Amino acid sequence: MENNKTKSITIVGGGSSGWMTAMYLNHLYRKEKQNIKVRLVESADIGILGVGEATVHSIRFFFAAMGLDEQELLSETQATYKTGIMFRNWMKPQQDKVHEYFHPFEQIKFGNGFDLSTSWLLSQKLSGQRYDEGTCISSELIKHQHGPKTANSKGYTGIVPYGYHIDANQLARFLRKKAVAAGVEHIEATVEKINTNNQNIISIETDNGVFESDYFIDCTGFKGLLINAVSEDNWVSYEDALPCNKAVAVQRKYPAEQQPKPYTEATALSNGWVWQIDLINRQGTGYVYDGNRLSKEEAEAELKSFLGSESEFIKTLHIDMQIGRRKRFWVGNCITVGLSGGFIEPLESTGLHLINLGARLLSTHLTQVSVPDAIQESYSELMINAYEDLKQFIVLHYCITDRDDTEFWQAAQRSVEHCPALKRKLAIWKYKICEYADLQTASTSCFNDENYRFILYGMQYYPELHLDIDKAQMETLFDSVKARCQQAVQYSETHQDSLDKLHN
Ligand code: FAD
Repeated sequence: MENNKTKSITIVGGGSSGWMTAMYLNHLYRKEKQNIKVRLVESADIGILGVGEATVHSIRFFFAAMGLDEQELLSETQATYKTGIMFRNWMKPQQDKVHEYFHPFEQIKFGNGFDLSTSWLLSQKLSGQRYDEGTCISSELIKHQHGPKTANSKGYTGIVPYGYHIDANQLARFLRKKAVAAGVEHIEATVEKINTNNQNIISIETDNGVFESDYFIDCTGFKGLLINAVSEDNWVSYEDALPCNKAVAVQRKYPAEQQPKPYTEATALSNGWVWQIDLINRQGTGYVYDGNRLSKEEAEAELKSFLGSESEFIKTLHIDMQIGRRKRFWVGNCITVGLSGGFIEPLESTGLHLINLGARLLSTHLTQVSVPDAIQESYSELMINAYEDLKQFIVLHYCITDRDDTEFWQAAQRSVEHCPALKRKLAIWKYKICEYADLQTASTSCFNDENYRFILYGMQYYPELHLDIDKAQMETLFDSVKARCQQAVQYSETHQDSLDKLHN
């Protein structure tokens, strides 16, 4: 039916969620010659959050699919490469050494007989070697300050999977420039009133005109301006399991002589953890903490003391975070993408991934103006799965800690009580390896069994495996892992060399 065709979509909000969604939908509709207008309304007065600066590796596929040139994107956003996250202090120190482990993006798929993880657990674990160091290439690369690129790597390819550290404000600006050039209508205006009929938005009234549309996408950040206008009782809090609900973000100049690292650092403090993200021109840092246990002033002081008194601070920002998700991501003709839909603390840098997922699912679900309830429910269900999976994965980082030095860490050990499915799995993973089939529900998650094993074994949550081993076979296997690592170091560039190509 011709009159059931969608003619216009209005996105409100010009942060990364707004511009990524606008760009994705516009790209798709133009390519497929669909006559659907994509408009983005953003307030020049309100501004964006502008703190999401690390990504997961799959975001490369979004940028590539949008036809963006990787070099141009990275050079305009002060970006560096990221091959994973170094976690520090998430367990008690051992023999006076700070506990640390690395979570790479790499998927390790080799082994002969037993898989590599099982082989490592059976033969290498007792040597005191870190799991990631024994099994993956990325850990070897960062030891040599190498990034993911070889001298001949083309855009979006590297020797190991990688994401980015990227200036969030400049990313939004870059995406805006590209989206507008590709035909997205951009309106600078502040929404003052939302006119609704039952659960449908008829129009939005702004200081720069009134806009009607078939669909409205809420990308207004934590305030969820549109979705809250068409729904009530539409929030599930995750704060019982994940109590870090505040952050203080501090930008600082580079300590002298320090070069940008090709990984994010996540160091646990007294009541949460600190991120350190190296851009070309500065370091972005922030303390994500439990606001019920620490005041803003205490958190800022603890962060600055951690960073060192010699640091030159550029900017400090205190942020209230709402930790949880919508019960319904789609209500009437309004759909949420980005922070307005939900947020889980940024320990695994998943904000942009969830936006990417939201935009992709939108394109398959937005088939006509008047969709049946089942379609709305399908969209919500898929997004809920993604948030639930992510919640489980983030809780895993906390609940297997042995830290008990503050009440925060004692409570962290009990956080699994709010994740019954994880509790059941942890009981099993004491006796068997964590494998793909254990996580079958993770259809929209970006974390699979490989990722779980890096956290479990990085945190020394090992299964008891009483199996015989063939020593010679194990030696051959781990010699081949070592050889691959050495080869990767030989072929890859130092991170600094790759950055010089981008930024000089
Ligand atoms: P915002 O950036 O808040 O944008 C909201 C937009 O809505 C703005 O353009 C504003 O002008 C507009 N708006 C609001 N009200 C009105 C109105 N009345 N009229 C018109 N326009 C309006 N994600 C990652 O991927 N990696 C990370 O490392 C990471 N770290 C994070 C750290 C912290 C502490 C936090 C809180 C988040 C982090 N995130 C991270 C998440 C990431 O910041 C967000 O996913 C991302 O910024 C998208 O935000 P947004 O576009 O939904 O909202």
